[in-house]
Amino acid sequence: MDSETAKNMKPESLMMSYGYKPELSEGAVKCPIFQTSTFVFKSAEEGKAFFEVAYGLRNAQEGEELGLIYSRINNPVLEILENRLTLWDGAEDCAVFESGMSAITTVLLEFLKPGDMLLISNPLYGGSDHFIKKILPKFGIEVIDFKVGQCKEDIIKIIDASDHADKLAFVYIETPANPTNDLIDIACSKEIAMHYSAKYQKEIYLAVDNTYMGPLWQHPLKHGADLVLYSATKYIGGHSDVIAGACLGSKALIKRVKGLRTFLGSMAGPNTGWLLLRSLETLKARMDIQAFNANKVAAFLTGHPRVEKVYFPGNLTEKDGEQYVIKNKQCLTNGGMISFDVKGGEKEAFRFLNALKLIKLAVSLGSTESLAEHPATMTHSDVDAELKKEFSITEKMIRLSIGVENYEDIIFDLNQALEKTTS
Ligand code: PLP
Repeated sequence: MDSETAKNMKPESLMMSYGYKPELSEGAVKCPIFQTSTFVFKSAEEGKAFFEVAYGLRNAQEGEELGLIYSRINNPVLEILENRLTLWDGAEDCAVFESGMSAITTVLLEFLKPGDMLLISNPLYGGSDHFIKKILPKFGIEVIDFKVGQCKEDIIKIIDASDHADKLAFVYIETPANPTNDLIDIACSKEIAMHYSAKYQKEIYLAVDNTYMGPLWQHPLKHGADLVLYSATKYIGGHSDVIAGACLGSKALIKRVKGLRTFLGSMAGPNTGWLLLRSLETLKARMDIQAFNANKVAAFLTGHPRVEKVYFPGNLTEKDGEQYVIKNKQCLTNGGMISFDVKGGEKEAFRFLNALKLIKLAVSLGSTESLAEHPATMTHSDVDAELKKEFSITEKMIRLSIGVENYEDIIFDLNQALEKTTS
């Protein structure tokens, strides 16, 4: 298909074919797994030319594409996957990784250096929180954070009060936040980055972990983000059978990300890439059902006598002020993740989890099967105890990832497990 025709089509129509030329693979309708570590050059001159472009020794000439060299640098499966992923977010380029954490850590290491300051939102996924607060400081990187509900002026005051405002080098946010579904204003975060960019005459980029909304339900680049990050293990992979990550943005920024990826060796392998290509074909169909089911489940939980509080973007109303405004501005659906507090504490929460029959007791999210977990003692066990309390990640909180099952069966299972919380 020519690129003009493709431009007028929706991403879900292109996930089966975009960027793949059957004539280069014996006519196979599906892209085969190119299970190879290295690629044969037609000549020594060609090998030299490929390396010159790959290592940035010279700019590619008009129409010259990066040739296939070695699977740590590029592989046909990854290239097709990266091209397809750009379509959802309207990104210029994409880099895929062997995990969400490797995408996140590669980006942070590329854009930060010793002496820099990183601004983050809170709370973050436990793994990101650990890397940022416990590992980055070992490399001389200072971390400063802001909380949900703090406006641009409050955050600027915090940064200025640090006496290191001139060191601000990067902004990293996660929205909706895992596991509280708190929303952070992407456009406002970009304004903060731009404020200090202008003041100190340097580029300060904004990266958004968009894992909770997947590539369908929120498009951070359209709200000013420079980079969007995914744990592709979640909605993109969608079947709980692969660990992967992705980063999207402009050609110039992704070139930097891919540069470090090559030397850290954190790219996805061909088999992982192939699984993701297969998953992308059903991404829209899966996510549509998950969002539909999540609305039904949240409505059931809200007001249930054994449930104290439900954390779900769909439950926000005008009374929630800024959170409601942010939701309407940047979220295209209410998502597929619901957290709730059971009445009681850890004992009641564990009774509920142990009583589930259809829903699996497991961490992770975004997959076809519904999952339930206990953030305080599982995904977020490592997060500072005071912070957990402050962000309502308490012993009574349960996190649900809603799958594609019939919603009536999910509700049946939740109902029977909630009944067991008192016995
Ligand atoms: N970001 C978020 C919001 C997550 O929930 C996770 C994993 O749960 C990650 C990043 C890390 O992704 P991965 O497990 O693929 O490394």
